[in-house]
Amino acid sequence: MTETEEKVVQAREVVESASNIVVLTGAGISSESGVPTFRGQEGLWQNYRPEELATPEAFWKDPKLVWEWYDWRRNAVKDAKPNPGHYALAELENNVPNLTLVTQNIDGLHQMAGSSNVTEMHGNLWQIRCTKCGDIEQNFDVPLAELPPKCKKCGEMGRPNVVWFGEMIEMSLIDKVLKAIEECHVMLIIGTSGVVEPAASMGLVAKQTDKTVIEINPEETPSSGLYDIVIREKSGEILPLLFTSNRTLS
Ligand code: NAD
Ligand code: ZN
Repeated sequence: MTETEEKVVQAREVVESASNIVVLTGAGISSESGVPTFRGQEGLWQNYRPEELATPEAFWKDPKLVWEWYDWRRNAVKDAKPNPGHYALAELENNVPNLTLVTQNIDGLHQMAGSSNVTEMHGNLWQIRCTKCGDIEQNFDVPLAELPPKCKKCGEMGRPNVVWFGEMIEMSLIDKVLKAIEECHVMLIIGTSGVVEPAASMGLVAKQTDKTVIEINPEETPSSGLYDIVIREKSGEILPLLFTSNRTLS
């Protein structure tokens, strides 16, 4: 057996014996669906770094520019389909009594794969929130008819309903995730670079409370050294081996 195969077998045993699992996913789980991550070259748009665009300051300085970037991201996601990693997690939900799926992604691919209970920490790319009255509109138009879009209720400017760098995630949502980590047996951390808070600290919280943490990411992350099982492969290739009937290892 290769080292990876050994780790897969080990991870599968851990997952199979757990009745309460928390899964945290990041942009990497969608990269095999063709959605660009932030930290890869393909994530760049017109030579802007995401940190220069995904902020309230950038938005208020130039709402049209920021909306053009979101229009481009919506276009990049529009035809994307879930990959075997998303599907394996949707199947896991049916097989584990208690599964909390937390994602930093805003692309909606977990739901499209059939996961019914998804905690979206950073919002959703297909929602527009009014900057004045707060109304949220579901909108799947690509490209958007008008940039920036206007609120259907009050006519004021809309913004993407996502959490930007420098913005707060609702405390109740963070509490819910921390509680789930506290109560779980195993945590899976998939396709996240581990540099964006508070998701970055969540693996740490799991370790501090003695949980088994499994990381799946082709690249090393700042927290890899802390985790129990680290599988340096693509999530679309590994997740189906961990929990679906499509298991090729014995
Ligand atoms: P990130 O872009 O910072 O990191 C992506 C990570 O995924 C990297 O560590 C990379 O090595 C790993 N990765 C790449 N391909 C992989 C694969 N096939 N399997 C497993 N891992 C793979 O993303 P992040 O940590 O999620 O944080 C950045 C922020 O960007 C988040 O807030 C997220 O909401 C946002 N974002 C979301 C999307 C999306 O919705 N799909 C896309 C880009 C960025
Ligand atoms: Zn409004």
